[in-house]
Amino acid sequence: MTTSATNTLRTIGPRNPSGDPEPHWLATLLGNIDGMVYRCRNDHEWTMEFVSDGCTRLTGYAPSDLLFNGRVSFQQIIHPDDRRRVREATEQAIAERRRFEIEYRIVRADGQSRWVWERGIGVFDRDGTVRAIEGLIQDITARKEAERRYRSLFDNAIEGIFRTTADGRYLEANPALAQIYGFDSPEELIATLRDIRRQLYVDPTRREEFMRLVKMHGSITGFESQVYRKNGEIIWISENARAVFDDAGEVLYYEGTVEDITERKLYQARIEQQANFDMLTGLANRSLLQERLERAIAVAASQGTRLAVAFVDLDRFKLVNDSLGHQVGDELLKEVASRLRACVREFDTVARLGGDEFVLILNAQAGPEAVRGVIERVSAAIAQPWITEWGEIHVTSSIGVAIYPEDGADAPTLLRHADAAMYRAKDSGRSNAQFFTDELNAMMSERLELDSKLRRALERRQFVLHFQPCVELRTGRIVGAEALIRWNLPDHGPVEPQRFIPLAEETGLIVPIGRWVLHEACRQGKAWLDAGLPPMTISVNVSPRQFRQDNLVRTVVDALQSSGFDGRLLELELTENLVMLDAPQLLATMDELKQLGVRIAVDDFGTGYSSLSYLKRFPVDRLKIDRSFVQDVPGDPDDATIVRAIVALGHNLGLRVVAEGVETEEQRRFLLDCACDEVQGYFFGRPATAAELTQLLRP
Ligand code: C2E
Ligand code: MG
Ligand code: MG
Repeated sequence: MTTSATNTLRTIGPRNPSGDPEPHWLATLLGNIDGMVYRCRNDHEWTMEFVSDGCTRLTGYAPSDLLFNGRVSFQQIIHPDDRRRVREATEQAIAERRRFEIEYRIVRADGQSRWVWERGIGVFDRDGTVRAIEGLIQDITARKEAERRYRSLFDNAIEGIFRTTADGRYLEANPALAQIYGFDSPEELIATLRDIRRQLYVDPTRREEFMRLVKMHGSITGFESQVYRKNGEIIWISENARAVFDDAGEVLYYEGTVEDITERKLYQARIEQQANFDMLTGLANRSLLQERLERAIAVAASQGTRLAVAFVDLDRFKLVNDSLGHQVGDELLKEVASRLRACVREFDTVARLGGDEFVLILNAQAGPEAVRGVIERVSAAIAQPWITEWGEIHVTSSIGVAIYPEDGADAPTLLRHADAAMYRAKDSGRSNAQFFTDELNAMMSERLELDSKLRRALERRQFVLHFQPCVELRTGRIVGAEALIRWNLPDHGPVEPQRFIPLAEETGLIVPIGRWVLHEACRQGKAWLDAGLPPMTISVNVSPRQFRQDNLVRTVVDALQSSGFDGRLLELELTENLVMLDAPQLLATMDELKQLGVRIAVDDFGTGYSSLSYLKRFPVDRLKIDRSFVQDVPGDPDDATIVRAIVALGHNLGLRVVAEGVETEEQRRFLLDCACDEVQGYFFGRPATAAELTQLLRP
């Protein structure tokens, strides 16, 4: 079978053995072909009957050297190692009467070896015998070298490299890819993974996403997915890939690289976990709460729905923590966390802000009534007794709720308002829930204003101390004075301690204020002594926060030292509720104070919820009966009984008992009758400036 091209070739002269004339243009055409066009015999030497001018460039021999084996035969030019392969390939093609294509090396005239590519075909007689072989030989050394280089890159790359078909098979994979996917060799990988979509990706839709993105952008980078390894293990990979298209614009194949990013993902996840979740309970932490709330608000805003933010604070968690230990406290917090989670839906958020404060984001709420339902459930869940090896523990919670959009348009406002509502709930007797209201709002802004004024007052020394005499009932002598803080707000006048002390306690400002009070009281006490007045006890009110935050003993020592006042003339008034808290630490602090000679009084006695056992444990010197019990005696028989009982109790424990708020002669007489030791009240003297009290004290 011959082609028309071979027919034409046979007519080429003058080297054409047939002697046919060769048109000049054809010689030029053949000369311009990159490579050597030839016609040879199918013999041992591949005896050349025709070669084009390209011969010289390809082999380094002139055409005349090669024609009819003039100087060298083509068999000799073929690299010795490749001769056999060339012959076998050619013979087989001839036997099968088809074209052959073959790559092999030749040795040029200058001894250099080059890679060539040959494409040829047998020319047959009518009776089927081979008359000649015709074809083209080209130098492909450069391509071979590049191929070799790329092959090495491909084989030795650390990244996995692949070529895959659109229907999800592998055309090629390098050893690194096999290794990443857990196969022994690229061949095994190619043979095993016949459906990338389902066999490789953990989430099969990743393959569609991959194809969609490649189609859209032509390529993708950093495409991260989870995939299965051969042994079923799941790893994270990152792919860079592009599509190669055919002329019709259809995807021929995808090619790209794969990196195993499992380590990085694990690390990221750990960092994220630490950054966003509370270690103890696994709940969202403050920063994640903020993020989620902002997102939730954006969703609610765009869909016109409501959401609720609820602050949940455990009542008297501190008591559990202090009396049963931190481990039990931690367990309790974990238990509460899981109960809270069980109360809300999947798409709501439960966060812990630290301590015993939790926050819920309740998404897509119909209105306040629906929210109230959830809150009641939360409250009931927490109130369920918690059965432990230490016995049953009961905790209740105070919950404050703010609703978007009614109570705030942004995350900080909603959180602040829910927090304020929670404080309100605590104030009104714990174990209840409180929704944010306009009234609360007004109160908050007033308090905010007050707080900033209070801070300024401390800097500008707008505080003064007033003193209220404490009188020994039996003798009528002034035996002491209680220091009571007064705040003179310019352009406003005095502000009641009841209005700013609770706020200062909440914000912590009470700590520096209290320090000032202690110093000032000691200074005044010393001044009275220096002025020659008889010694008397100066009582100073100390708030719980000062015990917890300040190094109270240090502050007291400082105040005594800088004033030169005698510690035995100083008394600290603690409230009953304080005495109940913080048991171990409080006892230690009290012991240290006692060593300074400082006396301790329990203020507002009778108003706390406490058991009385602490009176035996703590080194208390005086009990101050709260004014609320005194104001209705002797008329109210219940109060009269209580006052009498307190005096008896105090005396039994070896304590002195003081009655506060004595305003009338009847009260005085009743108290004297009860054998109450001391009294304080308007009847004996209102709180007054130091100068005014000096007048009273002068004999
Ligand atoms: P408290 O320690 O129980 O002080 C007694 C309060 O009763 C004082 O109110 C005093 O003015 C008032 N009072 C005294 N006798 C009578 C009376 O016969 N009738 C009536 N109706 N009231 C009487 P004040 O000065 O307004 O202080 C209120 C509370 O503020 C104090 O209660 C105390 O808990 C707190 N406080 C005052 N100064 C300080 C301070 O320097 N530090 C701390 N942490 N708290 C203070
Ligand atoms: Mg007091
Ligand atoms: Mg009091």
